[in-house]
Amino acid sequence: MTAVTRVVAPNPGPYTGPGTNTWIVDAGPVVVVIDPGPDDDNHLAAIDRKLAGATVGVVLVTHSHPDHLPLAERLAATHRASVRRYPDLGDGDVVRAGRLNLTALYTPGHSADHLCFLIAEDRAVFTGDLVLGKGSSMVTYPEGNVAAYLRSLERLEALKPAMLFPGHWDPVADAMGKLEEYRRHRLEREAQVLAEVRRGRGTALELTRRVYGSEVGEDLIQAAEMTMRAHLQKLVDDGLVQEVGGEQFEALK
Ligand SMILES: [Zn+2]
Repeated sequence: MTAVTRVVAPNPGPYTGPGTNTWIVDAGPVVVVIDPGPDDDNHLAAIDRKLAGATVGVVLVTHSHPDHLPLAERLAATHRASVRRYPDLGDGDVVRAGRLNLTALYTPGHSADHLCFLIAEDRAVFTGDLVLGKGSSMVTYPEGNVAAYLRSLERLEALKPAMLFPGHWDPVADAMGKLEEYRRHRLEREAQVLAEVRRGRGTALELTRRVYGSEVGEDLIQAAEMTMRAHLQKLVDDGLVQEVGGEQFEALK
């Protein structure tokens, strides 16, 4: 099993948990760093302490969100390493570093530029924000795409991974159980949204209040609306819902 350690970035929050996980993967004579995180001097210093003089072979980034990418170029420059991410890396591309091969998996849904990285010999996947160690991933309009997200989860399930290293929270040893939980959660949300539209038409915000009102405070209602819009978009694409005058959504079937 490849040795993997992490440095948690100092950016805790409602969507980042304890902070972004910066993964350091032992690849023999060199190490691979995945998701350097926010551009923060203390975090850069903490990564360098953990590296303890090891040579960085390559810096990989799962996606371009501000809690994953910004430190990449600075970290790579200080170690004379290169940064690799989408679209320079595409689905199935293999990154060789030391004795390791990491395969890029194009896994859009949370973001349009999302990659996961697979160590095939360990059946280990670095999942970025596709799957987190806790809670659920954000799939929000307009960047998020629920249909693509579900396909990306199924893509990972087909690989039968044994271990997940997520972008936030702890590693997941029950990889298949977690993937199934995520897929089920997303489909339950979709069923909930469709059932609500069938009960009566409404704008995205009205539907958000009707579905999530009891569990989401007013401060998070806008984020919830962007999740609602992503679900509505899929239901429109699937021909189950249509948008009518006044930005109202109504059920077709
Ligand atoms: Zn993200």
